[in-house]
Amino acid sequence: MSGRLVIVGAGQAAFALAAKLRALKDDRPITILGSEEVFPYQRPPLSKKYLLGEMTFDRLLFRPEQWYVDNAVELRTSAWVEEIDRSAKTVRLQDGSTVGYETLALATGAEPRTLPPGIGGDLQGIFTVRDKRDADRLMAEMRPGRHLLIVGGGYIGLEAAAVARHLGLEVTLIEMADRILQRVAARETADTFRQIHASHGVVIREKTGLVCLSGEDGHVKTAELSDGSVIDVDFVIVGIGVTPNDRLAREAGLDVANGIVVDAFTRTSDNAIHALGDCAVLPWKGQQIRLESVQNAVDQAEAAAAILTGGETAYNPKPWFWSDQYDVKLQIAGFNLGYDETFVRPGAREGSLSIWYFREGQFIAVDAINDAKAYVTGKKLLESGINADRAILSDISADLKQLLV
Ligand code: FAD
Repeated sequence: MSGRLVIVGAGQAAFALAAKLRALKDDRPITILGSEEVFPYQRPPLSKKYLLGEMTFDRLLFRPEQWYVDNAVELRTSAWVEEIDRSAKTVRLQDGSTVGYETLALATGAEPRTLPPGIGGDLQGIFTVRDKRDADRLMAEMRPGRHLLIVGGGYIGLEAAAVARHLGLEVTLIEMADRILQRVAARETADTFRQIHASHGVVIREKTGLVCLSGEDGHVKTAELSDGSVIDVDFVIVGIGVTPNDRLAREAGLDVANGIVVDAFTRTSDNAIHALGDCAVLPWKGQQIRLESVQNAVDQAEAAAAILTGGETAYNPKPWFWSDQYDVKLQIAGFNLGYDETFVRPGAREGSLSIWYFREGQFIAVDAINDAKAYVTGKKLLESGINADRAILSDISADLKQLLV
């Protein structure tokens, strides 16, 4: 039996690593140290069905408490790791105690960016959405007729806008960039979602930044925007991206570059320490990337489990992602990094559409909007390395299956 594996962080990647090791019949002692008070759970519903009140917390848990007992996985909640001592091979917790490891896995995730106090970021009534506590506090604010300001037009901001409209709030969403989804999706995808939100009554203001928030009795009351306007707000959601939790690694002297640098075998610059999930920066097609998705957290964790049990297969990410807004499902296959061309194909049903991304003539990703067939086809193309034939794509009467032959 190998020595103890200590996993720091008790989120998607941590759970997947422990579960995969046990599925591989690996019986080494495993300790998971997680800062949250609850057992590991999935985050995506926090800005979707959980926030809407349509899903209870029990359904978010990956496994009930008993699973950890049955699988001899020691899980310590409210256990905040302060420091790694690489020469002693121990981690020190906030309460001063230490835990020894033979192998350490850092699965510390990421932290939402916040607004600086200088522009009112320290007022009450300002929220981010990362964990259960955030979502619970937000749910208490989501009352009909209240005015919500969302800062940031990424997926989290747009999903929160959809929930808030569903619950009868007035919603203004501001985006500093030229358009929503600027960092993650093509103009055509952004145009579609802008139109969907507008039809549900969300006021989207692009090229509009936040100058400052002002309050009354310490609680946010108004927002001054970069176009000079001042709007009344009851509360604010800040969705302006995340920063990877790489402090422990940095302070321990590991290679860090906006995330913990790992090789294709999930190893950090210390062979005894692996990193996975949102906190890890990994090699991909000659670049260093960080993926913030369930797919990456699970697949990278499973790759790490295989490597820890003697495998030698490099982790080769096959990215996919989804977002739910109103009754619209966006499914993304591939990674559109560096795309230089897009192709829009209407789907078979009203409101369905797919946006195909190419780089130097090679198909690299697809955004499928209420179009499961386009998603599945795009995913299969990427898995099999077949390029997408533009002639077939542009023939609306052609079955997408023809792309695969
Ligand atoms: P996390 O799940 O964030 O877990 C990290 C854990 O480590 C946290 O519990 C943190 O508190 C803990 N931790 C950090 N530092 C320490 C420390 N020093 N000591 C102890 N514990 C520590 N992805 C999709 O693919 N599709 C979606 O639709 C989608 N929607 C999302 C919606 C929301 C609201 C959020 C927040 C995320 C969403 N994601 C989505 C992203 C996805 O949830 C993350 O990519 C995934 O959770 C990453 O897993 P992880 O284990 O790396 O990090």
